[in-house]
Amino acid sequence: MPAVELSSVGKVYGYGPSAMVALNDVGLSIEPGRFVSLIGPSGCGKSTLLRIVAGLEAADRGTVRVHDVSPEEACAAKLIGFVPQSPALLPWLPVLGNVTLPQKINRDAPSRRERIGQLADHGRGKTQPDMMALLIRAGLGDAIHKLPAQLSGGMQQRAAIVRAFGLQPDVLLMDEPFSALDEFTRESLQDQLLDLWDELKTTVLFVTHSVSEAVRMSDTVVVMAPRPGRIVDLIDIDLPRPRNQRLFEERRFHEYEDLIRDRLHSAWRSTDAA
Ligand code: ADP
Repeated sequence: MPAVELSSVGKVYGYGPSAMVALNDVGLSIEPGRFVSLIGPSGCGKSTLLRIVAGLEAADRGTVRVHDVSPEEACAAKLIGFVPQSPALLPWLPVLGNVTLPQKINRDAPSRRERIGQLADHGRGKTQPDMMALLIRAGLGDAIHKLPAQLSGGMQQRAAIVRAFGLQPDVLLMDEPFSALDEFTRESLQDQLLDLWDELKTTVLFVTHSVSEAVRMSDTVVVMAPRPGRIVDLIDIDLPRPRNQRLFEERRFHEYEDLIRDRLHSAWRSTDAA
């Protein structure tokens, strides 16, 4: 059974002549454990799609299922983790308090999860993860008692990622989580995210603007186009893992980048012509 399944999903903002079709007839099926990226120009509906899967917004048309339940049910059972563009840490709590907070609230999530696990036949008898160990692995061992304001942007975003993984979500949704970071920090966080993903086998749906980031991270890249927001292509990235610097310099890596750029440009041209 897919971890995430969207079928004929539509979303319109506004009414009448000023209506904006943010998503039109979007279908997507993501198998458990896959790393899938959404790429496309601003306004093509990437964030809207992510928010709909997260249960933060409702689709106007179509169906959305996360492990065969609605996004709202999946959220209540903490099957879904969400990492926004900015880390959104609570400023008055130290790092350890921030990353352990979600486990302390909504205590009936495990039993809901168990029920969905039985329903969806993917119960895994999860134990609470060792948050200290996750923080140390993310390079935040010295920062656990610090407040968010005492950390760099990269460290704050690392804490947000640890917080999301700490819930051991079955599906992790990430909305351009590295876009505000410098290149060096971004690459190091990409590596750490891939390490955690590899270890915890989470399904990831990841929004990015960067073609090379999409190729570097993904099993599948979903290319989107605007007006109306839609999926125009799915490109499987058939490159070995772990993907390292040597691979990034290889021709086959650049060929995937060229292919995605090409699909983005043709979608853009067809949008302009429409
Ligand atoms: P992306 O993430 O690809 O940049 P979005 O999903 O943010 O695209 O937006 C898709 C379209 O929907 C854009 O034209 C945007 O202006 C519009 N939109 C998004 N959210 C809202 C909203 N809450 N109200 C009105 N229009 C919105």
